[in-house]
Amino acid sequence: MSRTVEAASNLIAGEWASADSGETYEKRNPWIPTRSVGVYALSSAEDVARAVEAARCAFPLWRQTAAQVRGQILTATGDLIERSLDDIALAMTAEMGKPIREARAEVTRAAAIFRFFGNEAYQPSGERYESSAQQQHLYTLRRPRGVVGLITPWNFPAAIPAWKTAPALAYGNTAVLKLAREAPETGLRLARCLCEAGLPTGVLNVVTGDGPAAGASLARHPDVDALSFTGSVDTGARVRDAVVSRGGDVQLELGGHNPMIVAADADISAACEAAYAGSFWSAGQKCTATRRILLHESIYDVFCERLLERVRCGVVGDPVVSTTEVGPLVSFDQMQTVLAGISQGVSEGGEILAGGNRRGDGFLVEPTVFTDVGDNCFLSQEEVFGPVVSLYRFSSMEEAFTRANAVRFGLTASFFTNDLRLVHQAIDELEVGILHINSQTAGAEVHVPFGGLKASGFGPHEQGKAARDFFTQSVTVYEDAL
Ligand code: NAD
Repeated sequence: MSRTVEAASNLIAGEWASADSGETYEKRNPWIPTRSVGVYALSSAEDVARAVEAARCAFPLWRQTAAQVRGQILTATGDLIERSLDDIALAMTAEMGKPIREARAEVTRAAAIFRFFGNEAYQPSGERYESSAQQQHLYTLRRPRGVVGLITPWNFPAAIPAWKTAPALAYGNTAVLKLAREAPETGLRLARCLCEAGLPTGVLNVVTGDGPAAGASLARHPDVDALSFTGSVDTGARVRDAVVSRGGDVQLELGGHNPMIVAADADISAACEAAYAGSFWSAGQKCTATRRILLHESIYDVFCERLLERVRCGVVGDPVVSTTEVGPLVSFDQMQTVLAGISQGVSEGGEILAGGNRRGDGFLVEPTVFTDVGDNCFLSQEEVFGPVVSLYRFSSMEEAFTRANAVRFGLTASFFTNDLRLVHQAIDELEVGILHINSQTAGAEVHVPFGGLKASGFGPHEQGKAARDFFTQSVTVYEDAL
């Protein structure tokens, strides 16, 4: 299967196709905006309907395919992704500006995700219980949900399509994947690896295009049994309402406003390094990026000085250069939104200690550090999806935990201390789904659950064993001897 026709970016029933309407859009390189990266299908409800129909037709055979055969295809996909690591990473950097260092790590992770779920075929898929009745077998088993819809954002264009697609297919579902408008190429390359690994026709279908058209049609489609979404809180709420109102199941992974807390006894150098990476790598375009740094008053000045020094010597610029730490934002609109967030921070009394401006002709915003931002101000409460972080002082741990929790989000937090008692207090009190002790707020391993609390998520978590909770249904069987 090859993609020869321009904008034939939809994979439907095993064929690469353009949108029914013939409509297309162009994606440009965010570092060199005059350079086109590709032209893609602008899909409509009709394209989505054909993709769902293809997934429905493929479902009976795929669910009956031996789990180990399904697993072998996923494992082979992981190998193919790794073999194309450099090409896929470069495509990612070109379309969304992620520094190549991080793009390579993400593609490696995508390969590991496919291998992890390839191995799920060798894991138990239910439990046997003792029955109170004689000669009765009592057990649970897992079966696939059917046709699943997968809607993904642009900021992890390899990892997130991988961590939805791999478990969906491993557990016997067929799928329609709607890739983000801003970064479709990376996901399309993963889909090509799946095809090359021998995935049967129609098991995975892919559509590109706009969220309000293609994404919303997928959420509304009555033949989509379950839908997994990652993106912003507002879109997630719309998707949830559309799916739930027609009786479907939905899983949402949404935004974050992640605090890093640094206690008086912490290793300041390690904390500064983690603060820089957590706040600015991927230009802050991670749901797990550090947005607030709460510092004990006794170390505020020294931490601030060292962080500003780290910002001064950070490598900012061309994302293709292997040493670059901070590249451009994904698009002009995203850059404008981030610059507007910075302006609002200043107008509400915040003081900029570093950065604050666009740099060069690409969509690059300098790593930006604020101080004196009130707890109820915009920057303390809303997710500005860029390289912007604010520093705060606290005087007691109780105060730090209370203020860290005082947002609607609950995705990740990081806590720097050498005091075990405080570590356990943080585990008890911080309202987050993922907690990092003495490491940055971002970072996730493939074999453990990933997901947020409060407004950061809805439904079962993703990844690792947790993925099974969403992509399968549990059935309890009472089987009397015949
Ligand atoms: P977004 O909500 O704008 O878009 C996400 C996806 O939804 C895209 O594919 C988009 O085309 C689609 N979409 C848009 N409108 C839609 C609609 N009306 N109906 C159905 N689908 C629609 O988010 P984004 O800007 O692509 O990504 C950034 C956001 O994602 C941030 O808020 C970030 O925190 C969040 N995010 C969360 C996680 C997590 O796991 N918690 C991971 C990565 C990103």
